[in-house]
Amino acid sequence: MQITVDAEKCCGAGQCVLVAPEVFDQRDEDGVVVVLDATPPADQHALVEEAAQVCPAAVITLS
Ligand code: SF4
Repeated sequence: MQITVDAEKCCGAGQCVLVAPEVFDQRDEDGVVVVLDATPPADQHALVEEAAQVCPAAVITLS
């Protein structure tokens, strides 16, 4: 799994961080998403898929 995010369109809602805190974080200054692990281990995949689904800006892409 490879994670890409379009940080330009991230609205800083933080839903991804709530769902998968080991993979996503937010910048302190503006809340924009930070990907901590762009190629997460298998045990994180379900959470990452959920995070992508709940992201209100739909900026998390998985491949
Ligand atoms: S859920 Fe989406 S919009 Fe919200 S911080 Fe994460 S990537 Fe950004």
